Amino acid sequence: MSRIFSGIQPSGELHIGNYLGAVKNWVELQRSYESFFCVVDYHAITIPYEPDDLRTRRREMMVSLLASGLDPSVATVFAQSMVPEHTELAWIFNTVTPLGELERQTQFKDKASRQESIPAGLLNYPVLQAADILLYRADLVPVGEDQVQHLELSREIARRWNARFGEGYFPEPQAKLTPSRRIMGLDGNTKMSKSMGNTVGLLEEPASIWEKLRPAVTDPARVRKTDPGTPEVCNIYHLHRAFSPPDVVSHVETQCRTAGWGCIECKKVLFENVNTELTPIRTRAAEIRSQPELVDQVAGDGALPARRVAAVTMREVKDRMGLA
Ligand code: SF4
Repeated sequence: MSRIFSGIQPSGELHIGNYLGAVKNWVELQRSYESFFCVVDYHAITIPYEPDDLRTRRREMMVSLLASGLDPSVATVFAQSMVPEHTELAWIFNTVTPLGELERQTQFKDKASRQESIPAGLLNYPVLQAADILLYRADLVPVGEDQVQHLELSREIARRWNARFGEGYFPEPQAKLTPSRRIMGLDGNTKMSKSMGNTVGLLEEPASIWEKLRPAVTDPARVRKTDPGTPEVCNIYHLHRAFSPPDVVSHVETQCRTAGWGCIECKKVLFENVNTELTPIRTRAAEIRSQPELVDQVAGDGALPARRVAAVTMREVKDRMGLA
């Protein structure tokens, strides 16, 4: 069975953008692959943060992952900092990673430009990412199309280490593309993101979801109800494709192109289908939250199989490097 690894930032409750863009896909893959899903809290400390806030966000992310359907009895679900080998392998990879490659990373340039003092951890972030994946010698990494290039550095690090210490030891991880398209924020301008304030929370109450959907941006050509629209340019249509059954999606296309209905009507149908999918998730999250010890137990138990695999990798890596 091929092995997959993917990580997610401890950003607190999931929003529907990262649910559709990542986690829903993980749930579908977890039984077909040997799966490692990790809340990457060591990555989260490369920018300023509050310790209590991080603790809460990590726990809430675990709640969201479990409520979404990740099943700890078939997948390994854990927090990165519970497996210290992540940082140990990252240090080793730092010794084979050219500085220039790190300085060229777009994400580093973006984040560094927003900070007065740039921590070295921000520069070395992709090295830790490579360690996250390669520690489990994962063949596949489920990612969206916009993240494919981030994997290239992990492959490059694997090639460099292999060339020096053990040809073929680390597989060059390949992208397993997530089928769901990039979900834009409700402002229609940028990718859905908490920092942009344009998200719908996965566990948000229906009334609050409708408050956000009702004014959400649609096809600007539909000024009046009688103006025909182009569904492909409308984020509401793309949300229908993610949440509504195929017959409803075709109905939306027809109604939009022929001005058969107004955008509010279209959004009401979307709202119903969003609720159909999210209500059971919300219910599960409430059950999980009512047993806080369960979340800690899952995170702790999940780390055990991860540590077993990580320990074998580190033993073999150290052996090949003359460190053991
Ligand atoms: S009818 Fe629906 S798909 Fe068409 S523009 Fe309005 S909200 Fe978007």
